[in-house]
Amino acid sequence: MGNIPAREAVVHMTTYRRQPLTLVRGQGTRVFDDEGRSYLDFIAGIAVDALGHAHPGLTEVIAKQAGTLIQVSNLFYTEPQIELAELLVGNSALDRVFFCNSGAEANEAAIKMARKWGILNRNGAYEIIATHNGFHGRTLGSVAATGTPRYRDPFGPMIPGFIFVDYDDVDAIKAATTEHTAAILLEPIQGEGGVNVPAPDYLKRVREWCDQQGILLILDEVQTGTGRTGTMWAYEQAGIEPDIMTLAKGLGGGVPIGAMLAKEACAIFEPGDHGSTFGGNALSSAAGAYVVRQLVEGGVLQNVQARGEQLEKRLAGLEDRSPLVAGQRGVGLLRGLVFASDIAPDVATKAMAHGLLVNPVRPNVVRFLPPLNVSAEEIDEAIDIIDAVLTEIAAG
Ligand SMILES: *Cc1c(COP(=O)(O)O)cnc(C)c1O
Repeated sequence: MGNIPAREAVVHMTTYRRQPLTLVRGQGTRVFDDEGRSYLDFIAGIAVDALGHAHPGLTEVIAKQAGTLIQVSNLFYTEPQIELAELLVGNSALDRVFFCNSGAEANEAAIKMARKWGILNRNGAYEIIATHNGFHGRTLGSVAATGTPRYRDPFGPMIPGFIFVDYDDVDAIKAATTEHTAAILLEPIQGEGGVNVPAPDYLKRVREWCDQQGILLILDEVQTGTGRTGTMWAYEQAGIEPDIMTLAKGLGGGVPIGAMLAKEACAIFEPGDHGSTFGGNALSSAAGAYVVRQLVEGGVLQNVQARGEQLEKRLAGLEDRSPLVAGQRGVGLLRGLVFASDIAPDVATKAMAHGLLVNPVRPNVVRFLPPLNVSAEEIDEAIDIIDAVLTEIAAG
């Protein structure tokens, strides 16, 4: 295999700040590096490996579908795609699905559809209100909706029509709404922004405002969706329904797939409006259908709730024990441990040396995103490692 980092440095774009770790295989919540060391994986492909690594059922479904039919384009019907669409529609408040391959693409689809909807139904309105610190992807459309200037600034003029307001501030949305507004685009919890959980009535009040104004509510559930927060969709816990919802990350259990779902009234794409060569192909759809079934019928959602509570308690314990910890936040198995100073990268590096992978999502926040079928013992093991790391850092 040779020295992968050295080979990478010659041929790959310098797009990523990588950990000095080459991973070769995984099993459940564990991954193994090229020197045979094992790590508890509390990043899980960034909230992607919903069922962990090498899950026997998912492996079998993928292998079987690969040996049957992988891709025929959307010029033809396939059963796995329609089965996954039925599962998503049957288990959500939305009525129709469009499939693509990533979160950014799902948001592209949502942005295009909301613009078309506003142009037709709100007298040409095409503006979308999004939030500072939000994250919607890296394509030109989705990055134009992403409220982090450094992701946008190097790339020249952005697609017009995005207005940014503070997250968790309903009055700011109201003040920014005009006759040009077509939709509001939000994450139910800001994931990449640092696991920011809004006030309990935030989404409800935004929903009421959208209804009052006759504008669409788009929820980006790319990270919070497919069970991550303990319900199938995070919006359920807010007691509301979005008009449009985008998915990706956990949906395929590691196989790339994205989806944009909409209520009937705004599902206004017509043939020629939008498309994707790979979107919802037989392979990724079969994987997605298996993941959704495991969540709904296989007890995985209940596991997220139980393990999420356990993780919350254990993180609260760290908060009590260590003066380095300022707090914790999150829902289900999307959680952040907040430090009093910018030690998150140091904590993550030291945790890796102890055999635990966690993601420093902000300088002062480490994010925990274990597989949704993580065990109680693995949660304990992970937090014991963080505890030891904090003791180490405190000792200087
Ligand atoms: C990761 C993420 C995206 C982008 O997904 P990609 O598959 O990387 O394009 C969009 N929105 C949210 C909320 C995300 O967490």
